[in-house]
Amino acid sequence: MTTLSESSVIPSYDKLFIGGAWVEPATDRVIEVVSPINGKVIATVPDATEADIDRAVAAAREAFDHGPWPRLSPAERATYLARIGEEVVKRIPAMSEAFTNEIGAPAVVSAAFHDNARKMWEDAATMHERFVFEEERSWEDGHGTLVREPIGVAAVIIPWNGPVATGSLKIGPALAAGCTVAFKPAPEGPVSVMMLAEAIEAAGLPAGVVNVLPAGREVGQYLVEHPGVDKVSFTGSTVAGRKIMAAVADRIGRVSLELGGKSAAILTEDVPLENVLPTLVFAGLGNSGQVCAALTRVLVPRSRQEEVVGAMVAAYQGLKVGDPREEGVMLGPLAAERQQQRVLEYIGIGKQEGARLATGGGVPAGLEEGYYVEPTIFADVTRDMRIAREEIFGPVICVMPYDTIEEAIDIANSTEYGLSGAVYAADDAAAEKIARQIRTGQIGINTWGMCVTQPFGGYKQSGLGREGNVEGMAAFLETKLMMK
Ligand code: NAD
Repeated sequence: MTTLSESSVIPSYDKLFIGGAWVEPATDRVIEVVSPINGKVIATVPDATEADIDRAVAAAREAFDHGPWPRLSPAERATYLARIGEEVVKRIPAMSEAFTNEIGAPAVVSAAFHDNARKMWEDAATMHERFVFEEERSWEDGHGTLVREPIGVAAVIIPWNGPVATGSLKIGPALAAGCTVAFKPAPEGPVSVMMLAEAIEAAGLPAGVVNVLPAGREVGQYLVEHPGVDKVSFTGSTVAGRKIMAAVADRIGRVSLELGGKSAAILTEDVPLENVLPTLVFAGLGNSGQVCAALTRVLVPRSRQEEVVGAMVAAYQGLKVGDPREEGVMLGPLAAERQQQRVLEYIGIGKQEGARLATGGGVPAGLEEGYYVEPTIFADVTRDMRIAREEIFGPVICVMPYDTIEEAIDIANSTEYGLSGAVYAADDAAAEKIARQIRTGQIGINTWGMCVTQPFGGYKQSGLGREGNVEGMAAFLETKLMMK
């Protein structure tokens, strides 16, 4: 039997949300939620098995094939989505506390992520006002009605780094489209997601429309391969994305993928540093660098490298790193021990490759308990280095000098990823001209952010498709022409 740490402040769950009710799991297997703040087990949730997946898919199938959900009008569905949004808002304090304890995100990060979830549900609840589900079409020798219909049962699989928001960004549009959902969150951060399940339950959706069951990757793979699933919407690593795409290929399965990133900020010769630092400093470090869209490469004119590195080092050394529950802490631990080890390994690789360590590089003094890594900057990084090409998913920034703006654009586009980015120049027009040449799904012009209520997603191996707004909903629709 599991002994929870005495200081545990977050709830445990012993049931799965399937078919509109909290039900006993098929086995007594549990996921132990380990706090990265101190390495202690702070909660448990059921570890769903294949039998649970069968049950969840059957419930979603029944709700889709025979239930009212896909047959309601988009406006009727929207009233439920608005209600879920309200129920989520009520639970934001509890979700934030859970997220901080299970993943290690400081309050400021946790608040931003959960506020994004609120925005996502508001977006989902208003999509029907901005989208044409049916329209008359005519052509040379005929006419008819073009109908956009829900694809069917959607399998939603997400990672741990912002699960309530990442889940909401998929489930909201899936429901707006009329799909039903089997939702498998990651085992590392399931408690805040169980609270999302409670919010969905409180909104009173018809039974089986959303089913929530945390599990590991093998069970995730079983869900992806399930013949009852019509659409897979996945967020996670590019490695897993490839496996998932291969797994659905046999049945020509519908798939949307939101994967990794190695996003670049380009600073031009003439941009004043004070215009850059307010957004750049935290753009690579938020959630300890565990953000897919993080700006982890900073491309600077060679003549300005020392100026930029100096300013960033000063800013990073001034950031409070520590227990994310403490006031003023900006950087908590990495989410898991394996994540910490991976980041430290990459720091070792950077040193071996000849990059210059400008600050950080190890475990912060006094924070040996828990999974902390210092905010780290490498300078003199070149495009062939692994630390410049591979996603580290930690607080490690690569400053890369360039000689011409053409070279900067080329470096920015030189990885297999294309998720986010930013261009900082003395004027917006010049920055925009450069931004148009960067192959990435979102890009900031003299700013940076992740806009989750407009299309978000990746070029190249950062993913397939877009989430957010009606483009996100379209990923859960099929198109039918009825000829008359
Ligand atoms: P991961 O890919 O290992 O796991 C993500 C989720 O997928 C988990 O729920 C896991 O159990 C499940 N999973 C893994 N392999 C699977 C398989 N073969 N079949 C079905 N399910 C499977 O990723 P991680 O290390 O947990 O998360 C970090 C990664 O997620 C990073 O690469 C990051 O960039 C990416 N990410 C991307 C976005 C985005 O929107 N582009 C957002 C957040 C995180």
